[in-house]
Amino acid sequence: MVDTLIIGGGTAGCVLAARLSEDPDHRVRVVEAGGFWASAAEFPPELADSGALPLDDRAPWLWRYPVALTPDRPGQIVRGRGIGGSGSVNGCYFIRAAARDFAAWSAEVDARSWDFAELLPYFRSLENDHDYGDHPGHGRAGPVSVRRIARPTRLVEEFGAACGELGFGEVADWNSLPGGPESGVGPVPCTVGPPDGSGRHRRIGPAHSYLLPALSRPNLSVLGDTRVTRLRFRGTRVVGADCLYGGRPETIWADRVVLCAGAIESAALLLRSGIGPAEQAAALGIPLVAAAPVGEWVTDHPEIGIDYLHPAASGRAVPLEYVLELDDIEIRPYTVAFAPGVHRMGVSLMRPTSSGRLRLATADPLTPPRIEYGYLATDADRTRLRAAVELTGQILETMSAESVGGPGEISDRWLHDRLGTSQHLSGTCRMGRADDPRAVVDDRCRVHGVDGLSVVDLSVVPVPLSRGPQATVMLLAERATVDLR
Ligand SMILES: Cc1cc2nc3c(=O)[nH]c(=O)nc-3n(C[C@H](O)[C@H](O)[C@H](O)COP(=O)(O)OP(=O)(O)OC[C@H]3O[C@@H](n4cnc5c(N)ncnc54)[C@H](O)[C@@H]3O)c2cc1C
Repeated sequence: MVDTLIIGGGTAGCVLAARLSEDPDHRVRVVEAGGFWASAAEFPPELADSGALPLDDRAPWLWRYPVALTPDRPGQIVRGRGIGGSGSVNGCYFIRAAARDFAAWSAEVDARSWDFAELLPYFRSLENDHDYGDHPGHGRAGPVSVRRIARPTRLVEEFGAACGELGFGEVADWNSLPGGPESGVGPVPCTVGPPDGSGRHRRIGPAHSYLLPALSRPNLSVLGDTRVTRLRFRGTRVVGADCLYGGRPETIWADRVVLCAGAIESAALLLRSGIGPAEQAAALGIPLVAAAPVGEWVTDHPEIGIDYLHPAASGRAVPLEYVLELDDIEIRPYTVAFAPGVHRMGVSLMRPTSSGRLRLATADPLTPPRIEYGYLATDADRTRLRAAVELTGQILETMSAESVGGPGEISDRWLHDRLGTSQHLSGTCRMGRADDPRAVVDDRCRVHGVDGLSVVDLSVVPVPLSRGPQATVMLLAERATVDLR
């Protein structure tokens, strides 16, 4: 029996495990479906280099899901599987969500607790910003190492110069006050170590920042290769979880369970355990514990990939060294090559109005859920992306780059054919008031209608985020700890 069972040792799970176990009388256990690497030296070497995304087709540290981006555009997405979760495989981009996102979030819960001003102390205390740590609104003493790439690759320099020529202002610090600049071009803050002799930077994920330094505590235990299949309830109180430990079924009992399995698996676990839409549970023969709109809303950043040729070589520092932000549009000059000799610009819509949903395909815990993104369903989203693609064309022209398969006219078909996703799926267990029919958890991350169960990961964020989510997930977990102590 433990005091808190954390399901999923990913980004949020690492933060929570480290923070909750600071109290020596609080027994914390983390169960992680993927590998548990107990020191930086034990991590697979492929995860160390921040210049590469370790997304090989057969990599054992990934979950893979077939998805429908639109009804007629299938896709494939991945998530990190192993200690550190997606934070162990991601692009290391670490930009805080904009103050306006937190204002929208607070409005959903009718409480000031998720306002940017309320959250700023947590942002400050979690970071060790090597460039701006002493500036207002920043921190110097936190566990998360943040730095910008001092010498961007030539391709990225050309991108920055082209944006300047087109009149976009330079932003030195995306995480500056008040609540992040909305527009401009500038270097991406990254969770990486200092450059080594060859200019490479080590990826510093949430396991390195939070979990590994806490492992010597006797009140913290971590089980790897342990996949939770279902939650256990007594009435409407959660009392533990069934899992497969090295393939063998086991049950772990706990006073309290916190789901940190990420926006896909946290939702799937709730649905499989009888917390979800009543008709879905009935159709799959799952006994209902509490009716809840789990998986009924899904949001993510649709991304159009524009390939181009340019004489400058691809870089080796991080996949994304600079971004151009235009309020709800992010333009990303990737430094990683997606095909030999071809560069790619990602054009992403950060506050889409289209949304999707996630449902179970079967009650079997090993079958992946069905994920329908519902991308590009609204005129507003298509119009905004068309404008962003046109602007990207101007940037490429200014860089004297040659677009591959660039559009004359940007039709809906052209957008569909180049449609992808930024891999930021969120919102499956939305935060909101008890009387909100779309809400799954309250403003303290507790699941409505059940006792002893919380969800703390990207699934609870109730609004689209104008920036990549990693910084926000860490912030969320830091903030949630206060209520879970
Ligand atoms: C390839 C990729 C690149 C990305 N790049 C960036 C970026 O550069 N910047 C950015 O801001 N965002 C990025 N993101 C998104 C960001 O990394 C994630 O949104 C964030 O890490 C999510 O944190 P989380 O705690 O919600 O889930 P995760 O970090 O994914 O953690 C979930 C954990 O739960 C475990 N788990 C799941 N199911 C079970 C189960 N049944 N039993 C036990 N354990 C379970 C998983 O194995 C995993 O370790 C990227 C995502 C991907 C996939």
